[in-house]
Amino acid sequence: MAAKTDRPARPKQRRGEGQWALGYREPLNPNERSKRDDSPLNVRARIENIYAKGGFDSIDPGDLRGRFRWYGLYTQRKPGIDGGRTATLEPEELDDKYFMLRVRLDGGALTTDQLTLLGELSQTYARDTADITDRQNIQYHWIRIEDMPTIWEKLEAAGMTTMEACGDSPRVILGSPVAGIAAEEIIDGTPAIEEINRRFVGDPRFANLPRKFKTAISGQQDVAHEIHDVAFVGVDHPEHGPGFDVQVGGGLSTNPMIAQRLGVWVPLDDVPDVWEGVISIFRDYGYRRLRSRARIKFLVKDWGAAKFREVLETQYLKRSLADGPAPEVPEVPIDHIGAHRQTDGNYYVGGAPVAGRTSGSLLIAVAKAAERAGSGRVRLTPQQKLVVLDVPEAELDGLATELAEAGLRTTPSPWRRGVMACTGIEFCKLAIVETKARAQQLVADLESRLADVQDGVENPVSVHLNGCPNSCARIQVADIGLKGQIVTDDEGNQVEGFQVHLGGGLGLDAGFGRKLRGHKVTSAELTDYVERLVRAYLAERVQGERFAQ
Ligand code: SF4
Repeated sequence: MAAKTDRPARPKQRRGEGQWALGYREPLNPNERSKRDDSPLNVRARIENIYAKGGFDSIDPGDLRGRFRWYGLYTQRKPGIDGGRTATLEPEELDDKYFMLRVRLDGGALTTDQLTLLGELSQTYARDTADITDRQNIQYHWIRIEDMPTIWEKLEAAGMTTMEACGDSPRVILGSPVAGIAAEEIIDGTPAIEEINRRFVGDPRFANLPRKFKTAISGQQDVAHEIHDVAFVGVDHPEHGPGFDVQVGGGLSTNPMIAQRLGVWVPLDDVPDVWEGVISIFRDYGYRRLRSRARIKFLVKDWGAAKFREVLETQYLKRSLADGPAPEVPEVPIDHIGAHRQTDGNYYVGGAPVAGRTSGSLLIAVAKAAERAGSGRVRLTPQQKLVVLDVPEAELDGLATELAEAGLRTTPSPWRRGVMACTGIEFCKLAIVETKARAQQLVADLESRLADVQDGVENPVSVHLNGCPNSCARIQVADIGLKGQIVTDDEGNQVEGFQVHLGGGLGLDAGFGRKLRGHKVTSAELTDYVERLVRAYLAERVQGERFAQ
């Protein structure tokens, strides 16, 4: 029998998190391997030269389910597969031969000519689909790979792109829909958004990040900045004047986190450099070993804001940033619905489709209505709404009528105003339940059932619907957040339904809704459930109390 040695046990070696800056450069999961093997930016040439000619079956699977995303392309869900089977099938069994295509619209900014073109492309190539996403994008469906070269040619000729609309890359930058014209705005962030786009989007140095990277830049608090990887929020510094507060590490989905303030003040001209520093930290120090821990929020949580700021200043910017005050939080959420006076005396007018569901025909109708009212500019909002800018006062009534006829109400019910929904089972391969149609039915039902009380609702009650545990429709920060899942009904059947999160919010109510144990509702019971909740809130609130309070 061998004698036992007295040697002390070797300390457990800590496994690296895949941080490049600490030497862990080996590809550690299939996504990392794919990005290392070939830059996702190279896939555009293959789409144009090979796949568009050879058709869907000629596409390399690594490109199809990976690199295509850098150009805004995902395969959409094959019709007819119910949500109960989503997790049981291989990705290729869920793939349709058509694509979802996201057009990146930084700040949601569009001319009416661009809006018209988006509508025409939808009619020609996307079976008239065109949803407004809660990241100010337009999302098409039913796109054929054969049509992509022509679609890109037309989009790019009009100054639009799908570059890095998805993928582990710097995604579309959210910006205030009313930047540069709103009286409440502290500073116009548009020049910084444009400069970041010009310098860094499509730059190979930032095309292989650990995961997606979401940015918000706004001179007022209208872009859900609390849940972004990095946000620049307008703030007035007592000595330096208007500039930006910088916040990092926000995000939803599993492990939701509210962004942390770095405590700095940044002038407009410095925003692109500071943004470059933050995204570089993410690229170099972000956790690449596990996809589930690869968002910047996990790094920020582990480091804390003070260390993050120190690394940013010492290793990346090579200078100190000025300390800055916290922005004042507005008393009510800002969504730009209705008519509001601009600083130049004209008006901007926000209209609400239901849960971002629009169409190519509707976009064309809106562009025409805006032009008839003397406007040449529209904006998409992070609440899945649309705003027409620069409207003379005399045109307000006519425009409101035309928008309503097209499906965008400028004085919507609180339910229409507060509802958002992700893509859901209609097109999304991860979805378990229907969302868009459910949201439309819910709004119609509530408008009829709660007509007696809706005038008493000062703040819209936000109802957000997700088709799966991800949080594309921001369920954790809704008054009523609905996470799609299969639930058991009273007869013991497995049916579509939702796990309920209650009392989340942004701004004054920044925090995540509570997931009440066992609090689930079937899709069929959803209207009854929301009606009961809203009536109870209205009956029990004290004057002015918000739902999330
Ligand atoms: Fe798809 Fe889920 Fe995102 Fe909805 S929340 S779009 S179902 S991934």
